[in-house]
Amino acid sequence: MKEVKIGHLYPKLLNIYGDGGNILALKKRLEWRGYNVVIDEINVGDENIYEHDIYFIGGGQDLQQIEVSKELQKHKDFFTNERDRGAVFLGICGGYQLFGHYYQPHNGEKLLGISLLDAYTIAGNKRFIGNVTVKTDLVEPNTLVGFENHSGLTYLSGETKPIGNIVVGNGNNGSDGSEGARYKNVFGTYLHGSFLPKNPHFTDYLLELAVGEKLEPLNDETEICAHNSLVNKAY
Ligand code: GLN
Repeated sequence: MKEVKIGHLYPKLLNIYGDGGNILALKKRLEWRGYNVVIDEINVGDENIYEHDIYFIGGGQDLQQIEVSKELQKHKDFFTNERDRGAVFLGICGGYQLFGHYYQPHNGEKLLGISLLDAYTIAGNKRFIGNVTVKTDLVEPNTLVGFENHSGLTYLSGETKPIGNIVVGNGNNGSDGSEGARYKNVFGTYLHGSFLPKNPHFTDYLLELAVGEKLEPLNDETEICAHNSLVNKAY
């Protein structure tokens, strides 16, 4: 039986607004296709991290990001090598911010990220809270939905590009119309929800990148009905 290894990064610290549901979506959509799935929690103090096919990190408050920022620095080279060999990464909100170069909170010192993405984040004066609809050219249907709750404003550079453009909501920074980021197989988004269960087509997009083959379609009637009920939902 084919096996996929998923590394869940710092779930005891960054796992807000149901972000752990993204792990369940990845797991079940692989198991429904006959894959064996191994999920490893990677926590503070874990020194030896071995290779995984997919890495996931959720969102959290500034306080938890401080601890994870320090811990991630110990493994920056490892994760950079993982990115460059093609592993799939998904970071949500606070975790996404730490995939960039840094996150500068309102108070205190700059939190270093691990620069998997050419991006940086600075805390804004307004908190963005509400439903989000994104138009994307990565998948069909060409919409992504979720909700956002962040004050961080994220700006992208170089070959790091948005995963889509905002239709409803604020996204990366509320000013350039972008949402999320992608470089190689590293993805970040501000969409909580959980994000993946509401966007089964994007889940499969990530899974196909991880396993390197097309996956058999599933009956996603219920999931897509839930997705469509949120498209263009008022902020
Ligand atoms: N603390 C970060 C911010 O406010 C991330 C919040 C989150 O993960 N929801 O921007």
